Amino acid sequence: MDLIICHDTEDVYTPANAGFDAVPMRLAEIYSREGVPANFMVIAQRAQLLKERGREDVIGAMRRHSIGVHTRWDGMPYDATEAAAREWDEGLSAVRQMETEACDIVGQVFDTEPVCLSAHALNAAPQMHVVARELGLPFNYGYGAAPPLFNISRYCGTLNLPFYTRPISVEKPYFEGFDDALSDQPEFEAHLERFEQKIDACLAAKQPMLLMHPCHPFKIYSLDWVDFYVSPNGVTIPPEEWPRRRGPGQRAWPQVELALRNFRRLVQYIRRHPHLNPISIPEAVAKYGNLPAVIGRLDLYSAAQRTCALHEVALDDRFTPAELAIGFAESLLVFAKEGNLPEQVARDNDCLGPTDDPLITPEDTGQVGWQGVLGLADGLLSFSREKRRLPANLALPGGSRVGLGSVYHLLAQSYVRIVEQEQAPDRLDLWRFPRQPRLGHEIGQQYADLAESQMVEPNIDISRLYRHGKLQTWTLAPAWRT
Ligand SMILES: [Zn+2]
Repeated sequence: MDLIICHDTEDVYTPANAGFDAVPMRLAEIYSREGVPANFMVIAQRAQLLKERGREDVIGAMRRHSIGVHTRWDGMPYDATEAAAREWDEGLSAVRQMETEACDIVGQVFDTEPVCLSAHALNAAPQMHVVARELGLPFNYGYGAAPPLFNISRYCGTLNLPFYTRPISVEKPYFEGFDDALSDQPEFEAHLERFEQKIDACLAAKQPMLLMHPCHPFKIYSLDWVDFYVSPNGVTIPPEEWPRRRGPGQRAWPQVELALRNFRRLVQYIRRHPHLNPISIPEAVAKYGNLPAVIGRLDLYSAAQRTCALHEVALDDRFTPAELAIGFAESLLVFAKEGNLPEQVARDNDCLGPTDDPLITPEDTGQVGWQGVLGLADGLLSFSREKRRLPANLALPGGSRVGLGSVYHLLAQSYVRIVEQEQAPDRLDLWRFPRQPRLGHEIGQQYADLAESQMVEPNIDISRLYRHGKLQTWTLAPAWRT
């Protein structure tokens, strides 16, 4: 089983004279000595501090591993709150500005190409995945994870190493929790035991990969989460006020030394484990990022069958519902013109899901003729080519609107009918259909959990994050079947 080891590297709070800046270097050196590849997700503001403090030694030691971007600022969830306050396009612009700036800073400080963008402490918005895609990068710790394994997936057109917080029926491919255990010997032994059980359970569940976050480097020396002191309740406290206020507290030096010794034991345990294959994020992209260039006729037929049988926007084992929707529409238009379904269509990985809620019940229900279905197929293709996202609704010739789910169902029904009867349907029933895959609700809820962060203002409106997050489930597919 592949193991991806990530360390979120944060802390703009602790001053240089506390003497802890070397901690990420110590961790990086332990990995280097043991020959285990690690991935450091660095907050750009933290990278700048290391540079300002002249810690080329720390930067150099970390750079021997993979360096990812862990948002622009430490503290409150800036991307998520910006995205929550705006509709999709404006939210995307705000997130794009922060994340590209963060990527530039981390790239400059470490003199390397960052390997991914990532979410930090509820600072998650679906637009961050879109920016990662624009930068040609995967995303780390996103909520978009596809069943049945909820492992590495595609979401918003790029690979996602998932951080799925809801209960699932399979062993979750994610492990953390050594933060406070490393300096506490009984708890360390107990947690190493839990790690072993987790590995066994993931192997039994046939998880291809386990994402592990052993510890935040700053938790080796800090008792509490520093972000909580940087921006409690969404209010940024000026640094000059920090010394006067209650702080996170620090561990004693012997605790730090014990934590580092136990950390080495953990890395040695990983190196010696017969069933763990530690890989870097670029290696994971090379292994899981190869996608088919086309969708075949049988791929479309089986997906259409599933959607009709389950009466929902069914998730596929390789293709996203957005790719399938475009594939159905193109194929039906070819059939109308040439009398045959194409053997394959190009896979379109660049089209997002809708950004407004589609209607569940069509405005005018009844029957739609074959020409009506073709009109909807054509409308879906023109909209998605122009806007690079699926339409929420499409209009019938009389002007009444049909939601994307109902359109998807009409296209899937037509495809099945043509395959099985070699002719187009005369008329199809136009009726209600879910507006996104069923899992969308759960994925949206994870974005909405931002409301319970202690780093946002009370009464924050998280409805856009919920809506945008769930609707992008149209772009969800597992990526471990390669
Ligand atoms: Zn973090």
